[in-house]
Formats: sequence, structure tokens, C-alpha cells
Amino acid sequence: KAKEEGRNTYVFYEQDLTRKAFERVLLATNLRQALNEHSFEIYYQPQVNAITGKIIGMEGLIRWKHETKGMIYPSKFILIAEDNGMIIEIDRWMMQEGIQQVSQWYKQGLNPGVLSLNLSIKQLQAKDFISILKQILLENECDPGWIELEITESQIMNNPEYSIEILQQLSDLGIKLAIDDFGTGYSSLSYLKRLPIDKLKIDQSFIRDIPTDKDDMAIVETIITLSKSLKLEVIAEGVETEAQKDFLIEHDCLNIQGFYYSKPVSKEEIQEMLEFPRV
Ligand code: C2E
Ligand code: MG
Ligand code: MG
Ligand code: MG
Repeated sequence: KAKEEGRNTYVFYEQDLTRKAFERVLLATNLRQALNEHSFEIYYQPQVNAITGKIIGMEGLIRWKHETKGMIYPSKFILIAEDNGMIIEIDRWMMQEGIQQVSQWYKQGLNPGVLSLNLSIKQLQAKDFISILKQILLENECDPGWIELEITESQIMNNPEYSIEILQQLSDLGIKLAIDDFGTGYSSLSYLKRLPIDKLKIDQSFIRDIPTDKDDMAIVETIITLSKSLKLEVIAEGVETEAQKDFLIEHDCLNIQGFYYSKPVSKEEIQEMLEFPRV
């Protein structure tokens, strides 16, 4: 009986694997199609100074508008795109689109602050990355200081020596650099000191249980103190409540991103926020 069950489990497992592999191949084909058919869109989430309430910047987050499935979130496809290399083209599209948009806002006399875009480490490792980025900036008359690039702490720490080199080139261009999901990726302090970065983004997992989880509160305080010691800016992600905001203000982290202020919104909606600020 046990043997039989074991075999059945195995069959199910095998079928499941086949189905998963099949879905991945299908998804890869669809990603290619989505690029060709312009089915991706950038959503923008404002970053706010908690004292003044003013928008100081925004993070661009990819959305896939699927014609039958509706909006597909990056958690469903970014990892697969990383695996099959499609992430390079997808993030180039993000840079092209985001840089064009932010430059247009500045030309219209609006002040979007700094636009932050997420990049996979694979992009940094692509031979022509810097030259393509320079070209996009030039074509759009974009001040490099309007753009920030975010790399996750874990991706940087997978290849720290290489990251330092390429991040230095980006920094020399005048691009701002942030470490995303900070606190989750085992940075060594000696590398952190050597990385030419401007900002730490405190991962939302540490913000979630403020003000009840004392450990998380201690971790957040430590990251804020660390950023001060290293003369880096700091921003908290995933801030949803007033209590979280107040805790951060109290500990002198004034830059905040999260549903408390706004979820990520379409370019039309963020443009309206820029044109008609509530503060
Ligand atoms: P991330 O870069 O850490 O982005 C923050 C994520 O947290 C976003 O999810 C955002 O919608 C969500 N978020 C913001 N505020 C709150 C909040 O108050 N509460 C909660 N619960 N969530 C909040 P999203 O847009 O689904 O993106 C997920 C991840 O996918 C991103 O995490 C980033 O790692 C990746 N990603 C998104 N767009 C791109 C892209 O264009 N290129 C690459 N390579 N990765 C991207
Ligand atoms: Mg990010
Ligand atoms: Mg993050
Ligand atoms: Mg994340």
C-alpha cells in the first residue's frame, strides 16, 4: 500500500514538474510577445518626505497588462525572466520608457524628483549596458542626477568585486545608486564601505510589524544609524500605517515609500499628483 502511494506521489510530482516546465516555457514566449506588443507599463510609487509631505522621488515598477489575464505583477515573471535572460531586454525597456517620461516631466516644468528603477545584476554584467544607458540619457536630454538605479543587496553581494567596479562607473556618470531590500542580503560592512552608493532602502519585512516587534524595531534603528555613519541616505519601504511613519520620523528616517502615502499608480495618476500637490 505504502509502495503504491509512493509511486502515485511520484507520478503526481512528475506531472507537476512537467506542467511547471511547460508553464515556464509558455511564459517565456509570452514575455517576448509582451515586449513586441508593448504590453508592459510602468507604475510609479511616490517617495515622500514625511515632514513636508512633498514628493521627493518615485520608484518605477513594472506591470504587465495581459489582454485576457489582466494586470500581472512582477512577482509572477521577474524570476523567470532572470533565469532565461529576458530580464536584460525588459529592464532596458524600463530604462528607455522611464528616462523618457521623467525627462518629459522636467521639460513640462513639473518636479518628479529622482526616478528610481530596479535593475537585475545581469544588466550590470551585460557588456554594452553603460553605453546603452548613456545613449538613452543623451537622446532624452536627461540629467543623470534625475535617475537612481536600485540593485538588491543579495544580488550585489553575489558578486561584490564586480559590482563595485560597475557601480563606480555609474556613479561617475552622475547616476544615483541605491541598495534595495537592505537587511535581507548579508552585506559585509567592509564591502558596504567600499560600494559607491548613495542610499539604503530598508526592506519592507522589517517595517511590517512596527511598532509591536521589538527585534524589527531594533534592526530598523540600526540600519538608520548605519546609514548615518556611512553618510548614506536612507528610505523605508512598505510603510502602511501612521504608527510606522511616526516611528521612522522619531528615529530620523524621513524618506518614506509605502501604501500609507500611495500605492504604485499609472503615469496619468502620478502626473496628476505632480500637477496638483496636496501639500
Ligand atoms: P521592490 O523593488 O522592493 O519594490 C517594492 C515592492 O513593494 C513593490 O511590489 C511595491 O508595489 C510593494 N509595496 C510598496 N509599498 C508597499 C506597502 O506599503 N505595502 C506592501 N505590502 N507592499 C508595498 P511590486 O511592484 O509587486 O514589485 C515586486 C518586486 O519586483 C520589486 O520589489 C522588484 O524587486 C521587482 N521589480 C519590479 N519592477 C521591476 C523591474 O522593472 N525590473 C526588475 N529587475 N525588477 C522589478
Ligand atoms: Mg525596488
Ligand atoms: Mg525593495
Ligand atoms: Mg522586494
